[in-house]
Amino acid sequence: KFISFEGPDGAGKTSVLKEIDIKLTKQLGDQLLLTREPGGNPISESIRHIILDKANTQMDARTEALLYAAARRQHLVEQVIPALDAGKVVLSDRYVDSSIAYQGAGRKIGAKEVWQMNQFATDGLEPDLTIYLDIEPQEGIQRIKQHRQNEINRLDVEQLAFHQRVRSAYLKLLEQYPGRIKLIDASQPFDEVVAAVQATIVRKYPD
Ligand code: C5P
Ligand code: MG
Repeated sequence: KFISFEGPDGAGKTSVLKEIDIKLTKQLGDQLLLTREPGGNPISESIRHIILDKANTQMDARTEALLYAAARRQHLVEQVIPALDAGKVVLSDRYVDSSIAYQGAGRKIGAKEVWQMNQFATDGLEPDLTIYLDIEPQEGIQRIKQHRQNEINRLDVEQLAFHQRVRSAYLKLLEQYPGRIKLIDASQPFDEVVAAVQATIVRKYPD
């Protein structure tokens, strides 16, 4: 059972995942793996630092997409596939849809190009379920300004139009993969978002 969590900046993905992790751990114990992208192992974490380094604002969009895909590959091989083989439930904080949204649409490489590159990186391994936390860019950015002062600089660089392209790409993916991707309205109160995510997981995996 491979479940990815997606969403634009400020959707509350990290906080929601923390709650879901606590609830599911009570139920599944060590049969649950929570992991984040890009990261989760030394090689992917090193790549994450290169990508997120504030000094690298000149990074080429395709270089960025390749680095995300490389981190994803290593994360799959080291964490995700062994856990799935052991019968565990894997919760991944971001996966290929993030690259399609952020690099494909946000940075304008093109959805198809980014998808193809990620087919190579993942050998076609898709999540069984994707929880998409939806938020309007205006509101997402507003939340980050209130709660995470340190992220404001990066958000100023990436203009509102960027975040609108990211969200549109997610909504397009939702239309393309209605069976896999489930939308949760992340503008609801936090507890309701968590409850909706939980209900979606239970609906997919009733036992
Ligand atoms: O998931 P999290 O919000 O921690 O991701 C960190 C940032 O990296 C995001 O805010 C997003 O802007 C960026 N990102 C990206 N392309 C991806 C994944 C994340 O630009 N494929
Ligand atoms: Mg986050």
